[in-house]
Amino acid sequence: MDRQVDVVVVGGGSTGCGVVRDLARRGLEAVLVEKGNLTHGTTGRMHGLLHSGGRYAVSDQKSARECIEENRVLRDIAAHCVEETGGLFVKRPEDSEEYFQEKLEGCRACDIPAEVID
Ligand SMILES: Cc1cc2nc3c(=O)[nH]c(=O)nc-3n(C[C@H](O)[C@H](O)[C@H](O)COP(=O)(O)OP(=O)(O)OC[C@H]3O[C@@H](n4cnc5c(N)ncnc54)[C@H](O)[C@@H]3O)c2cc1C
Repeated sequence: MDRQVDVVVVGGGSTGCGVVRDLARRGLEAVLVEKGNLTHGTTGRMHGLLHSGGRYAVSDQKSARECIEENRVLRDIAAHCVEETGGLFVKRPEDSEEYFQEKLEGCRACDIPAEVID
């Protein structure tokens, strides 16, 4: 490659593609290099869920807050990529009531929208 660019991004997964898109939108000359195909790595295996942070709402509230913050940014800048499917934590009769109560309180503490449905 004999082109002069501002930034070379290595890896065409979700991180590299996101970074190169962001650089281009800021007017920088950037090139993405990928040793396989785009989404050749972990990105090609992902489920595509835009996490709310709910799964960390009790065990790691710092990550939970970061997650919902990023979730809102992505909804704002790439709304066309987000399909609203909701998300459920399902309580079975044998599951502990305290676990779900703690989860609900954790979500509320981290500003993650959550409601109880029957
Ligand atoms: C089964 C599964 C399900 C998941 N589900 C979700 C989900 O629902 N929601 C969610 O948010 N996250 C999910 N994740 C996590 C998510 O997939 C990863 O966090 C994300 O894909 C990481 O992206 P990345 O670009 O950092 O890495 P990668 O996708 O691994 O990209 C790295 C790229 O770099 C390339 N590369 C490496 N070395 C070089 C080199 N020397 N030169 C050129 N190219 C190179 C690789 O080929 C690869 O394409 C899931 C992960 C797994 C495994």
